[in-house]
Amino acid sequence: MSKVKVAINGYGTIGKRVADAVSLQDDMEVVGVSKTRPNFEARFAKKRKYPLYAPNERIEAFEKAGLEVEGDVRAMCEAADVVVDCTPGGVGEQYKDMYIDAGCKAIWQGGEKHDIAGFSFNALSNYSHAIGRDAVRVVSCNTTALCRLLYLLDGAYGIKKTRVVLMRRGTDPGDAKKGPINAIVPNPITLPSHHGPDVNTVIPHIPITTLAAKLSTTLMHMHAVNVELESSPSREEVAELLSSEPRMLLIGSDVGSTAEVIEMARDAGRPRNDVWENVIWEDSITVENGELYLFQGVHQESIVIPENIDAIRAMCELERDAAASMKKTNGAMGIGVL
Ligand code: NAD
Repeated sequence: MSKVKVAINGYGTIGKRVADAVSLQDDMEVVGVSKTRPNFEARFAKKRKYPLYAPNERIEAFEKAGLEVEGDVRAMCEAADVVVDCTPGGVGEQYKDMYIDAGCKAIWQGGEKHDIAGFSFNALSNYSHAIGRDAVRVVSCNTTALCRLLYLLDGAYGIKKTRVVLMRRGTDPGDAKKGPINAIVPNPITLPSHHGPDVNTVIPHIPITTLAAKLSTTLMHMHAVNVELESSPSREEVAELLSSEPRMLLIGSDVGSTAEVIEMARDAGRPRNDVWENVIWEDSITVENGELYLFQGVHQESIVIPENIDAIRAMCELERDAAASMKKTNGAMGIGVL
């Protein structure tokens, strides 16, 4: 069977990881990645043998920098069955008509609004609804983590109400331009935050309220989660449920911070110290009077990568069964193994 041809528009934090994850699958291949600037990331894309493309008006800058490109972004999209848009939040909208004209399916990321595709995706929660679709939005890192967790809890115990405080990283480690330096920024200041409604684009029936602030850290986000359940499982039953899902990683108190989670991923030899799983501190799992409490860490740079792979598989009808696709993605990437 021929492989599905995937293009990645925007080879930044998410795009480079999507490209590497696609290359690990046996049913899809990278036919191009695009950059706007001929910087070190563009040089590494070439080193990894990804065909390099650029927006038409930027091609000259690449030539001047001695970096040969295969063509413009439109040509890249025409060569693809599906384009994964990994441009900065809000930019992907500009490319929508081009993707349609080029005749390729399109996946956008969580920085775009739900309406861009009319369908927001999380593999555990709604894989089957993405089968054969031409346009999908993979929800953000925070929403992906919340959807995975709440989907599992709702299926096992039923959810009456969810309350989450999100402690968000200021920016990504490779970004020297932004982020709070010596501040905690209520973000957004108006409450509740947009994260709850975003979870409802994937799982509409779960009552959820969220509050968020940005902290002066770049490594990971942290969620303080409180869920009122319909039934009252023991904390051990909740731990068993969560540990049975490969995209949830239960860790002990010896890993005492997000810094140590990242150090653990480095020690494990994970590429770019990525942690694709929700990181749940097992000792934080508490059930009191039918209410569950826990802390979960979210590695913002990598958690959505397996979801992009599953979205490609569903949209291109490579696999109709959600569990089979996730198992294949997990196996190829090493998810659930540390
Ligand atoms: P990034 O800034 O790291 O990378 C964006 C890439 O797009 C860069 O390579 C840049 O050169 C390129 N680009 C910029 N303008 C472009 C244009 N007009 N046309 C084509 N390419 C252009 O961004 P990112 O963090 O990878 O975010 C990409 C998307 O993923 C956003 O929607 C974001 O909200 C979402 N997302 C980001 C994270 C995260 O933590 N970084 C997590 C989950 C989802």
